[in-house]
Amino acid sequence: MQIIKLTMVKEVLLATRNEGKIKEFSTLLSPVFERVISLRELDAVPDIIEDGETLKQNALKKARIISGLTQKVTLADDSGLEVESLGGRPGIFSARYAGEKAGDRENIKKLLKELSGVGDRRARFVCVLALVFPDGLTGLTASGREIVVEGRCDGIIIDDPRGESGFGYDPVFFLSQIKKTMAELTPEEKNQISHRALAVRKLITCLEELRTHNE
Ligand code: IMP
Repeated sequence: MQIIKLTMVKEVLLATRNEGKIKEFSTLLSPVFERVISLRELDAVPDIIEDGETLKQNALKKARIISGLTQKVTLADDSGLEVESLGGRPGIFSARYAGEKAGDRENIKKLLKELSGVGDRRARFVCVLALVFPDGLTGLTASGREIVVEGRCDGIIIDDPRGESGFGYDPVFFLSQIKKTMAELTPEEKNQISHRALAVRKLITCLEELRTHNE
């Protein structure tokens, strides 16, 4: 096996074609990777079907398959909204809660309908990140070839959407401590507190530890 030190791994492939995510992750990952590329720059990588039962299963599946196909260090994510009184729904179904072709507006409408008359409005955004090193690239053990981390952000679901920023459920996700919805934050502010930002921070800590042990 070719042993390449982790400090020599300069590039990460994001397993997404979503422009917003590419922008967000590129900024967040710049302290640890010199180059952040995405599926937009690679031909012939098929769409991976997200058929797992958990965010973790979906993220790992994407990262494993794409790392296997490209032989690149690959980062995949899966995220969603978990509402306490709905037993964690919509969770893995967040993007298509109101149907396969539903947009953000329809998904929010369905969520608010389900929560009508419900007192407990606690919810959280959860992001799972899976980073997979291709076989043979590093001297890591099999289990060390995969890093999985999770970031969470707590809030409550409000009935009247507020704010124009962000996407998805942001306009109804109210952050009690700052008294704003996620959609009322600037991208920079969201990048400080979001579930994705917290997950990336955990990932960076894991990578830095690995690099120290690998030197
Ligand atoms: P994805 O796995 O990051 O594509 O997220 C799946 C779905 O979860 C999105 O389509 C949104 O409905 C919801 N979601 C994930 N992250 C956020 C966020 O930061 N704000 C609002 N909705 C989100």
